[in-house]
Amino acid sequence: RTIFNNVELLPPDALFNIKKRLTDDSRPVKVDLGIGAYRDDSGKPWVLPSVREAERLVREDPSYNHEYLSITGFTGLTDGAAKVLLGEESAALKEGRVASVQSLSGTGALHLAAKFLSKTCPEKSVYLSEPTWANHKAIFESQGLQTATYPYWNAATKSLDLEKYLEAIYSASRGSIFVLHACAHNPTGLDPTEQQWTKILDAMAANDHIVLFDSAYQGFASGNLDKDAFAVRLGLQKLATVSPILVCQSFAKNVGMYGERVGAFHVVLPVPETGVEVQNVKAAVTSQLAKITRSELSNPPAYGAKVVSQVLNNKELRAQWYRDMETMSSRIQKMRHALRDHLVALKTPGNWDHIVQQIGMFSYTGLSSEMVQRLEKEHAVYLVSSGRASIAGLNSGNVEHVARAIHEVVT
Ligand code: PLP
Repeated sequence: RTIFNNVELLPPDALFNIKKRLTDDSRPVKVDLGIGAYRDDSGKPWVLPSVREAERLVREDPSYNHEYLSITGFTGLTDGAAKVLLGEESAALKEGRVASVQSLSGTGALHLAAKFLSKTCPEKSVYLSEPTWANHKAIFESQGLQTATYPYWNAATKSLDLEKYLEAIYSASRGSIFVLHACAHNPTGLDPTEQQWTKILDAMAANDHIVLFDSAYQGFASGNLDKDAFAVRLGLQKLATVSPILVCQSFAKNVGMYGERVGAFHVVLPVPETGVEVQNVKAAVTSQLAKITRSELSNPPAYGAKVVSQVLNNKELRAQWYRDMETMSSRIQKMRHALRDHLVALKTPGNWDHIVQQIGMFSYTGLSSEMVQRLEKEHAVYLVSSGRASIAGLNSGNVEHVARAIHEVVT
């Protein structure tokens, strides 16, 4: 009877608690710049036209049912997912070096990666960018893996600290694990340039490191799904004869199916040395991933997987999806400019150009946690204490209110 009486009460999750405070807030104008979820210009969640049509096709399919999927998931999703990120012409795909399984969105893919690594190489450290998405550390540490950080963001210059980043790659033990944001880095909105990626990935190869690409925003950085796959595809080339690459892929944001938890986890095996049969390694890796899934979910959820598979594999829907991606990324871009322009017009102290230079869903505003608190208390503008603002929460009806609020807390 008393066994749970002394269980520790944990604080609520910082990000999800913002939503709760916002819902309880009775002020007429309130703005949610917390969670990274796309909103249209009236502040509403947006079901992508490509997804609406895909849902219709799934439901009207004569074989429509709610049967269990296989343990490794819906192959239409996993194959399509691999192609859209690794590239139709990927040598790794053509050579059968990619083991792919369905996951519970990006978080589930990261969990699979962490669990698989904890079984296969528990002694390795996992390096995370400083800063990174708040959940990375928790996901890897929950599987008993050690985490460390590598420098990324130079707060003084609001730019990439490439020199220190490269130093960290060279000073980590050979064969360490590095988690890289494939594009639209969360929270900084700052990605390496193509030249910087080349240096970073060459350094990874020179040190035999295992790269884990976390791809949660493909399409949100540039508006173009292929352009945003640049780093992953370059990594596949650079590391092809060096080490495996792990890829965690989410369709929460770019297909807008946040709550359906659609994702994939891929293990890209290197070109095998003589005497090693890559198909055997791939089968063994897949069997381990299937064993994890079987004990945790039995099998992954079907509905979202079928819908996203339609989007990925139906030519017309895929073209529509590319247009939907442009719609979302260009509206975000417009809001970046609107916010910056309002701040400039208000003569708010400081330089606000980083808001338009940063990419993806977020802006790392540089506002202090005290300013963030004041934004919420005085102006009902909600964001996380690090000063990261989800630009997707801005619209033509609230951007001026947000600019005035920032102006007030800064001056
Ligand atoms: N990785 C990064 C960098 C993210 O920002 C997120 C979500 O915010 C995820 C992974 C996982 O998202 P989901 O589990 O909703 O696909």
